[in-house]
Amino acid sequence: MMKIWSFPGGVHPPQHKEESNSRPIAPAGIPTQIILPVHQHIGQSAVPIVEVGDTVLKGQMIAKAEGFVSAPLHASTSGKVIAIEPRPVPHPSGMRAMCVVIEPDNKETWARLNKIDDYRSLDPSALRNIIRQAGIVGLGGAGFPTFIKLNPGPEKCVETLIINGVECEPYITCDDLLMRTRAEEVIAGTEIIQFALQAKKAIIAVEDNKPEAIHHLEEVLSGRTDISVAAIPTRYPAGSEKQLVKALTGKEVPKDGLAIHVGVVGQNVATARAVYRAVIHGEPLISRIVTVTGDAVGKPQNFEALIGTPFTHLLQLAQTDTDAMQRLTMGGPMMGFAVTTAEVPLIKTTNCILAQTAETLPKPEPAMPCIRCGACAEACPVSLLPQQLYWYSRANQFDKAQEYNLFDCIECGCCSYVCPSHIPLVQYYRYAKGQIWIKEQEKKKSDIARKRHEARLARLEREKAEREAKRNRKKAAMQQKKAADAARSAREKAMKLREKALENVSSVTDTTNPKEQ
Ligand code: SF4
Ligand code: SF4
Repeated sequence: MMKIWSFPGGVHPPQHKEESNSRPIAPAGIPTQIILPVHQHIGQSAVPIVEVGDTVLKGQMIAKAEGFVSAPLHASTSGKVIAIEPRPVPHPSGMRAMCVVIEPDNKETWARLNKIDDYRSLDPSALRNIIRQAGIVGLGGAGFPTFIKLNPGPEKCVETLIINGVECEPYITCDDLLMRTRAEEVIAGTEIIQFALQAKKAIIAVEDNKPEAIHHLEEVLSGRTDISVAAIPTRYPAGSEKQLVKALTGKEVPKDGLAIHVGVVGQNVATARAVYRAVIHGEPLISRIVTVTGDAVGKPQNFEALIGTPFTHLLQLAQTDTDAMQRLTMGGPMMGFAVTTAEVPLIKTTNCILAQTAETLPKPEPAMPCIRCGACAEACPVSLLPQQLYWYSRANQFDKAQEYNLFDCIECGCCSYVCPSHIPLVQYYRYAKGQIWIKEQEKKKSDIARKRHEARLARLEREKAEREAKRNRKKAAMQQKKAADAARSAREKAMKLREKALENVSSVTDTTNPKEQ
């Protein structure tokens, strides 16, 4: 039995998992349009390498990674590129962003796939490159390019690989269903990642409210010791990386540090499965399992859907009453965000589409003054002082908020959840972080402007000095020439005088008395 350490705080919100986890995963089919935003990951956007009118094959790269922290994008079905233009994308701001739009031909014609029979014969860097070219990013919601996390650096030793199947947010069940039905693929992906990292051991972490998933994983592993399954107590946010590292290893990830700093690398279970499909079957990341749930949904369930499938298509498949729908969320109710239109597409990081009616979305209670009860501090899994953060964020004292480690806040919402005064605490932290970010951007801009101004002044000074030096050189040359001219004319004058004197001498000699000769 593996020892599980506890982490501070956390809450137990109603789970709402049974609504969607009792139905099998259904294929979502091919929608009438596939909309592929070029920015679906942390880092720089991918750059389209196709043009409107091009025919594309399923799995064909249609946008290449730009820079190191980036991920390429692939056509999730075969068809024709009908637009490359800004479209609404899932983002809290409701913004539009550049998308490649494909009209499917419904033939599902695959591009040529490079399957690897024996990945263990490859160098880990070659393996990382396959994962990079497959466009795999963290599917747990973060969207960080996976190949980067698989390269901790030569001096860092990976003791433990954690495959995260905790899925602690209410309503979301896609990872649960994945582990129940595709445990072999999750474990095969875990082995590949473990090999790429040369990690000594791997742990697949699952909350103990998913007994079926735990059972299937253990059945496939059947007594192996290099990979183990850890059932961790159900408590939100046990799936956050730092909390999970603490729960499984007892180690604290340092402030401003990463899990690798304590010898741990974490990957989501769906990411592990995507790695398996990329390496063994040569398939880039073109689909994922997504939960479509909420009380507006007639048939809550999980779908295996093509990346780029519009939410409208999935909501329709799940028999959603869109007229009754009051709020559409990407992700869970704790850390997800509302989307302004159902026209947005499923992206690589969409683990859940939550459609709720007014019934499960009671009007937020009016915020009352803080009564200093301390419940928020008790619930905080990062051991912050949420009340202090709230005061300083509210008073625009951002330096103070930073002193109280504002940026360690993982925005889990536990503090808001327990606050008896119904203060939307997380909104204040997001506001404060946003303001600090804006100020930093402004400072960066003014630093750049100041440096440009200083560089311009330096250039003007340099040009002035160069002009002055040139003038001085010219003046000196002129003076030298003048002196030379004067010397020459003096010499000429002297010569003339000498010649004249000689002439005079010779004329005197010519007129001398011959007797005297
Ligand atoms: S839980 Fe709410 S009322 Fe209690 S101390 Fe925190 S902010 Fe104040
Ligand atoms: S949202 Fe931030 S401050 Fe609030 S409980 Fe979570 S980590 Fe702590």
